[in-house]
Amino acid sequence: MLVLKFGGTSVGSSENIHKVIKIVSEISKKDRTVVVVSAYGGVTDLLLKAGMLASEKDDSFRNVLDEINERHQNSILDLKINNPEVIEKVNAHLHTLEELLKGIYYINELSSTTIDKLSAYGELLSSLLITEAFNVNGRFAVHKNATELIKTTKTSGKHQVDFAITTKEINYHFQNSTAAITIVPGFIASNNSNEITTLGRGGSDFSAAIIAAALQAKELQIWTDVSGMYTANPKLVKQARPIQSISYQEAMELSHFGAKVLYPPTILPVMEKCIPIVIKNTSKPEDVGTHIASESSGQNPIKGLSHIGDIALLTLEGSGMVGIPGISRRLFETLSNRGINIIMITQASSEHSICLGISEPDADLAKQLVDLEFENEIALHKIDPLTIEKDLAIIALVGESMKNHQGISGKMFQTLGKNNVNIRAIAQGASEKNISAVIKKDDVKKALNVLHERFFEDQRKQLNLFIAGVGNVGSKLLEQIKQQKSYLKEKLNINLRVVGITNSRKMLFSEDGISLKNWQESLAQSEETADMEQFIERTKKLNMRNSIFVDITASDLVAKRYASFLKSSIAVVACNKIACSANFESYQELKQLATKYNAPFLFETNVGAGLPIIDTLNNLIASGDEILKIQAVLSGSLNFVFNNFSKGESFHDVVKQAQAEGYTEPDPRIDLSGVDVARKILILARESGLILELDDVINRPFLTEKNLQSTDVAHFYNTLIEDDEHFQQLVEKAEAQHSQLKYVAQLIDGKPSVGLEIIPQGHPFYNLEGKDNIVVFYTKRYPEQPLIVKGAGAGGDVTASGLFSDIIRMRTY
Ligand code: ADP
Ligand code: ASP
Ligand code: MG
Repeated sequence: MLVLKFGGTSVGSSENIHKVIKIVSEISKKDRTVVVVSAYGGVTDLLLKAGMLASEKDDSFRNVLDEINERHQNSILDLKINNPEVIEKVNAHLHTLEELLKGIYYINELSSTTIDKLSAYGELLSSLLITEAFNVNGRFAVHKNATELIKTTKTSGKHQVDFAITTKEINYHFQNSTAAITIVPGFIASNNSNEITTLGRGGSDFSAAIIAAALQAKELQIWTDVSGMYTANPKLVKQARPIQSISYQEAMELSHFGAKVLYPPTILPVMEKCIPIVIKNTSKPEDVGTHIASESSGQNPIKGLSHIGDIALLTLEGSGMVGIPGISRRLFETLSNRGINIIMITQASSEHSICLGISEPDADLAKQLVDLEFENEIALHKIDPLTIEKDLAIIALVGESMKNHQGISGKMFQTLGKNNVNIRAIAQGASEKNISAVIKKDDVKKALNVLHERFFEDQRKQLNLFIAGVGNVGSKLLEQIKQQKSYLKEKLNINLRVVGITNSRKMLFSEDGISLKNWQESLAQSEETADMEQFIERTKKLNMRNSIFVDITASDLVAKRYASFLKSSIAVVACNKIACSANFESYQELKQLATKYNAPFLFETNVGAGLPIIDTLNNLIASGDEILKIQAVLSGSLNFVFNNFSKGESFHDVVKQAQAEGYTEPDPRIDLSGVDVARKILILARESGLILELDDVINRPFLTEKNLQSTDVAHFYNTLIEDDEHFQQLVEKAEAQHSQLKYVAQLIDGKPSVGLEIIPQGHPFYNLEGKDNIVVFYTKRYPEQPLIVKGAGAGGDVTASGLFSDIIRMRTY
């Protein structure tokens, strides 16, 4: 004998019912089969909704009723059911359902007995229709109502299965039946007055287990919409995968802690009889699914992760609790007397406080009850009034052999801490089958994903990128990421995904990663208009692990938001120089936040695009070297201008050409005034350990007063023509000395400066070409022969590759 249970989604449509018929037909060729079915997917919810509306005297319950009617009438048509007896039974059920709802509407009340009666219609209807569908398809099946098989009694306000009578009834029926296939409605039962009762939401799994246990079935198969019990809820953790083999105990822990795929009470009856449970996917019957038995196999001591949402944490504390017996007993009794279930308990060894996790909807009542129970102690200040924290959740790590492995909880808490998930309370049973922690509800998805990554994903790290500014440099970066994606996966174990992008017109998000093959079209077609505030908020709200915000804008507003990213443990990679060259205090704050929240703040491209200048400097300092002097040429635009400017030529024309070829900012004054280079040397000075402001950078301008006072770009160009003589003098002087003009940044004796210099032949700066940058570090270890970094210091490709290196650095955090 085999017992198969098909859930709501498996019988949600006639297409799926046909899959069920096929599966059962195959199996029943070898074994007698009991098929337990749920209500059509969503119907139980609709029934309860209609009941609520009716009890609130809301006429719209009729619309919900119409929807229920329609679902079942359509099913009759789709399944080609024309047996008048069955149709009449279905219509009779639908009619009594309508009468029941009208009654609820009339008396304005919905008792628990009525809720049972009402919610039973889902399974009553589905089981009749499915039985007939078998017959229509030439597979003879018999319908047996579960109310005649499963009997309940009421204990502590809850229906409990009376196993003795139930086992007798089930055996009696099946001993007297020869049917190869028997269809039984799940979820429903009856009490000793023959009134309909139910087994709790998700209870069809339990019905099937009860029948399997009573019949000593060979196997209990739970057929659902996923291919087994997963390492974590597959809706929340994309990388989760089915667990092949798991023990009853482990499955029980996972289901108690929220793995909805199996209703928790299901396991006990079959475990007692050592009947294996197999969880299978109705749409993919070829998948092996999960095998649940006394022993589990597999190397990983951790079997899965799960969570329960909507948790409130109650804390009872006070000096009067220490050493006084009976406080916990009174606390637990107070709650259990009113049916409040305690999900988790932790008590500090000082006995100064007890922390309980309960379901959030029970929290306010719990406070009333507990404060009343400890009224006297509270009045005497021996105990504080109960405190409640809401919006929490419990996450649990489950695995029976965790007890044989050291350091698992350490890894768990380290992983959560690194990702800025704050832990409010921890519980670990003495059996060590489960370690659970209370965290903020908003952190659940991130917590499950980082833990999954840590314990199940071969140490592959997923990095999630949010890129602001996908113009020239941004596009190049995306192109490079696309090309490197598989290399990163295979060689460095990094799964790099772009989750959000924005340009000045549109923004686009995809939690599963934006396809980089056609991101331009997807962005252009996105319904979301660009809004930087929104982009920033969404990035934070998604709360994904290993998030990296990449700033390729030149926006002041964006730079101001770095602190809030870092506080949310979102790393920042910026080519925008504003944050690092703003006032020292905010630069320092960002660095401190990066350390505190373990979220790197990286800005290699602020100086010399992709050249490893800041990295080299950081490494020198970190290894104990000391900077004595820095000399550098750091402006591709000024380099271009002075490389192309020689005696007799118009300085104006050279600057115009530089702008036309894209070497300068749209406003060339930003480059020519030296401000941009001043920012860069300031950043190098700060990274060398100096506390300096932009005003401390001595700027010796080579432009004339008139150039500097110009009102706009056009005016500026005019003044260049007017003052051409000044520039001719500059170049003549250099040429007379067989030297070159270079715009040089220096840091000497802790003082940064920028200005135009005459560079003689033989100097490392003399032969600097086009957009090349060069930085010469004189340090304690390199006092005479300096350490030189030289190469292309501007351009989309190299800047993108500098950003890319900063992103990859995240893998070690
Ligand atoms: P059915 O209608 O078949 O009873 P349920 O909706 O009750 O199905 O249970 C299946 C669902 O449980 C899956 O679709 C999945 O979203 C959810 N689920 C939660 N945690 C897990 C887990 N660890 N493994 C598998 N499924 C899970
Ligand atoms: N139909 C019931 C519910 O939705 C029972 C079940 O499907 O397991 O809760
Ligand atoms: Mg279920």
